[in-house]
Amino acid sequence: MDKLSKEQRSRLMASVKGTNTKPERKLRSSLWSAGMRGYRVNFRIKGKPDIYFPKCRLAIFVDGCFWHKCPICYTKPKSNVSHWTRKVIENQKRDKAVDSYLKSRGYKVIRVWEHDMRNSTDSVVTRIRTEVEDCRQRVAIAGKDH
Ligand SMILES: [Zn+2]
Repeated sequence: MDKLSKEQRSRLMASVKGTNTKPERKLRSSLWSAGMRGYRVNFRIKGKPDIYFPKCRLAIFVDGCFWHKCPICYTKPKSNVSHWTRKVIENQKRDKAVDSYLKSRGYKVIRVWEHDMRNSTDSVVTRIRTEVEDCRQRVAIAGKDH
């Protein structure tokens, strides 16, 4: 069921493709207040990750629940169904292509759902922190060998 009005839906559509969306900003400010630094925003690698840690080659995407078809919150739009459905399917395909491209080149990829930024920001931050600390440790160990 579509809980959004037509107007809300079109506003949502306008915002989904934009950068610097609300869940993105929330993640950045949460990382910042957790003391995490050294990340770039909209870094120019394939897929343009919303947040990127260069030393760890860690790419983080914040995915809108409608736009990327979240298994929990996705609801079919009521109007223009075929148009939006096609868009969503294209996005899913692109997400998969970006993931496998990056992973095959040694990048790590973390995808965060918009709803995670509403409901479980802390666990998202913990997940990212763990990944970054792991990689810094590996870098430090590798550094000692030389
Ligand atoms: Zn969701």
